Formats: sequence, C-alpha cells, structure tokens
Amino acid sequence: MSYESYLAISREDLLAKMAEQMSKKRLEHSLGVEAAAIRLAKRYGADETKAGLAGLLHDYAKEVSDEDFLALIDKYQLDSDLKNWGNNIWHGVVGIYKIKEDLELSDAEILHSIETHTVGSKEMSLLDKIIYVADYIEDGRDFPGVDEAREIATSSLDRAVAYETARTVAFLAQKAHPIYPQTIETYNAYISYLK
Ligand code: GDP
Ligand code: FE
Ligand code: FE
Repeated sequence: MSYESYLAISREDLLAKMAEQMSKKRLEHSLGVEAAAIRLAKRYGADETKAGLAGLLHDYAKEVSDEDFLALIDKYQLDSDLKNWGNNIWHGVVGIYKIKEDLELSDAEILHSIETHTVGSKEMSLLDKIIYVADYIEDGRDFPGVDEAREIATSSLDRAVAYETARTVAFLAQKAHPIYPQTIETYNAYISYLK
C-alpha cells in the first residue's frame, strides 16, 4: 500500500516511527487491523488505501500518557467531561489530535474512523464500520465470540457492528465498568440488526 496521498512520510518510515512509540505486540495488532481493514474494504467496496491507513493508525495514540491526553483536551478545548474518562476512551477520541500533530494527517474520513474506533457512533460511515469491526476481528485476536464476529463480518457489516457492540456493552457491564454514552448510542442505533 502507498499512503503518500494522505501522509508526508512513507509507510516504511511510519512503521519505524510507530515502533519507537509502541510495544511490538501493539504494532503487530496495528498491522493485523490494517490487513483486516483492507480485506473488509475489498468485500464492501470501500477505498482500500484509506481503510489500510486508518487501520494501521487506529491505535497510534494508545501509549500516550494520561498527562499528555489531559493537556490535549485543554489545548483543543474538547468537552471537559472527557476528563472523567481514561485511556480506553482517549486513545481514539483525543488520539486523533496527536495524530494530526505528529503526522500532518488531515483526511477527515480517516480521522473520523480513528476517532470512533472504540466507541462507534450512531451514524457510522462505511469506513467507520470497517475500522470498528477490523479492530475486533483481526487475525491476532483470540477471545470468546471472535470467530462468530468474523463469520458475521463476511455477510453484513451492520450486523458485525451490532454484535461487537452488544458483546462490548455486556463485557463492560459484567465487569462493572462505566459505559461511555456514545457506546450506548451505538448500541441503540445498531442492535436491531441482530434481530
Ligand atoms: P484496542 O485499543 O485494540 O484494545 O481496542 P478498543 O479501542 O476497541 O478498546 C479499548 C478498550 O476500551 C477495551 O478494553 C474496551 O473494552 C474498552 N471500551 C470500549 N468501549 C468502552 C466504554 O464505553 N467504556 C469503557 N470504560 N471502556 C470501553
Ligand atoms: Fe483502540
Ligand atoms: Fe486496536
């Protein structure tokens, strides 16, 4: 894949930069999401280059410190309620500001899919759905339900979004973790696809 139309640096240089700021495991996961996103883009007729780049970059900010995320929330005057959350929510929703700063990436569709890759949204674009689902089903993932999610993703992206969101909400509730309001909105918008 050539990402030159969206990025000032080559894919190779991007991989080297990512390797400096994340664990080997997370880099492998990022490459897995890139590959899964390209496969889904082929299957559902989306732009393969955008899907690949968004997949590769989706967790770019995952290892940014809490302190740096809080500073970004201030700097860009983001909703102050965000401060009540943590890395799980910040690395996508706030992470796009880190990506814009570090990589001069400005494509709005790519950035939106990264912004919503953890929590989804009530009206997801084709690219948003691809990144949300690719993150869940990439080859390196191994958890109960992942094979069913992979199977569903071969026939319906909307059903795959619904399945993943239902599993995530159930998992969070069972662990007594707070659920981000936008995650609930995604659940309500997509759950009928499972019927
Ligand atoms: P990853 O970055 O590849 O590990 O995957 P995600 O970005 O999809 O999710 C990161 C973490 O956030 C996972 O542990 C999810 O269970 C968790 N998560 C997803 N939605 C929510 C939410 O609404 N609230 C909270 N507290 N955690 C969430
Ligand atoms: Fe993530
Ligand atoms: Fe991820």
